[in-house]
Amino acid sequence: MNINYAAFSGAVEQALEAAGDAAGLRTMLDTAVHLTEQALDNGSSRKQAALIACHAGCSACCNLNVAVLLPEAITIAAFLSGVEDQPAFVPLMTKIEKYARYLYGVDNEERIRLRIPCAFLDHRGWCLIHPIRPIMCRSIGATDPDQCRKSLEITCLDNEEPVMLNLTQKSLYDEAFIQVAAALDRQGLDSRSMELHTAVQAFRECPERVGEFFNGKRIQL
Ligand code: SF4
Repeated sequence: MNINYAAFSGAVEQALEAAGDAAGLRTMLDTAVHLTEQALDNGSSRKQAALIACHAGCSACCNLNVAVLLPEAITIAAFLSGVEDQPAFVPLMTKIEKYARYLYGVDNEERIRLRIPCAFLDHRGWCLIHPIRPIMCRSIGATDPDQCRKSLEITCLDNEEPVMLNLTQKSLYDEAFIQVAAALDRQGLDSRSMELHTAVQAFRECPERVGEFFNGKRIQL
């Protein structure tokens, strides 16, 4: 793994400075993801990548709380406003609203116990926002989906089962998340993270919050 974080944060910050709307924030996030994927795409990590069992359609770990930065929530909310009338997305809109209320303050352990899958999964177990899925979703690279499922079932019984992950992928995306948050901080923007459904619904129900975010206001729920 070889990544120059000075260059990484410079590129992210430059994209952030140029961003004045949701599309600009998406470009900034695309930059962060692209640089992270580039770092992953080297000789040794490619070998590890071959072992990764995660693939489109596997939703074994999609019932954990996902923390998102506000630009991620704004990007997803903007994407949804463009597709909300499409039949595949109509049920999703009420689901997000419901989940945002239901999951507010629910911790991971309780979420696993309640077995609440992510609202963004469709009936086939596909992520409806896969191209713009959160950084934290991208950080997970498990070698065995059955191990993920078993681990979550056992956690319901208050036991723990280790899950083998690609740690290079995990640490690169964790660091990307930290770098984007730091860039937001330096720009005087709200750098907090929130639960995915809560954050997306906050910008869906009140699009004026996007302007408040760019004005450096702290987003109030
Ligand atoms: S956003 Fe997509 S990848 Fe992330 S937890 Fe939800 S369904 Fe899974």
